[in-house]
Amino acid sequence: MFIEPGFSNSRRGWIEVICGSMFSGKSEELIRRLKRSLIAHQKVEIFKPASDQRYDDEKIVSHDKNAISSRAVDQASDILRLAWGVDVVGIDEAQFFDSELPKVCEELAIKGARVIIAGLDKDYLGQPFGSMPKLLCQADYLTKLHAICVQCGSLATHSYRLQEGDEQFMLGAKGEYEPRCRHCFHAGMQDSKLSKIDVAGELKLKQ
Ligand code: ZN
Repeated sequence: MFIEPGFSNSRRGWIEVICGSMFSGKSEELIRRLKRSLIAHQKVEIFKPASDQRYDDEKIVSHDKNAISSRAVDQASDILRLAWGVDVVGIDEAQFFDSELPKVCEELAIKGARVIIAGLDKDYLGQPFGSMPKLLCQADYLTKLHAICVQCGSLATHSYRLQEGDEQFMLGAKGEYEPRCRHCFHAGMQDSKLSKIDVAGELKLKQ
C-alpha cells in the first residue's frame, strides 16, 4: 500500500501517479487517498474527462460502485482554472485528457498542490496511452497496480479487448475487456485479426 510522505506546512506540492491495466483497482486507490484528505478537511477537487460518461456525469465510479463526487471537464486547462488554491487535486482516467495535462499537473504541484493522477498506462494494443508516459516520468511517487489474468491467474498488466475495433478510445467495462498477463495478451492478439504489433508499435493486419 502507498504510504504518503511526511506532511509539512511548507506547502510544497508533489505528483502521485496510479497506473495499471483495467480492473487493477486504480480508481479504488484514487478514491481511498482522496477520501482520507476529505476527512481531514483538506480542500479537494476531483476531475475526470467529459468524454468518459460510462457511469455518471458527476461522480468517479469504480467497477465496484465505490463513488466520490467529481467534475467532468473538457480540457486539461480547465483543471488549472478550477483547482487554483486547493490542497489536493485528483484526476481520474488521465489517459483520455489532451496533451496539456502534464504541464497542468506540473504547474499545480509547483503552486503547492498534492496532485493524484489515475490512468491506464497501456491501450488495447499494449502501447503507451495518451499523456501517461510523460506523467509517469513526472511523478514523484508512482504506484503500478496489477489485475489478475482471467486466462491463467498470473499478474495482469494488459487490457485485452474482446470485441474487434480500431478506436483507441473505445471505453469498456466488464465484458468488453479482460485483464491479461503479457503472455496471454500476445497469444490472444496472434489469434485475432489484429494479429501482430511490430517492435515500432505499428499495427499490422494479418495477411
Ligand atoms: Zn495469463
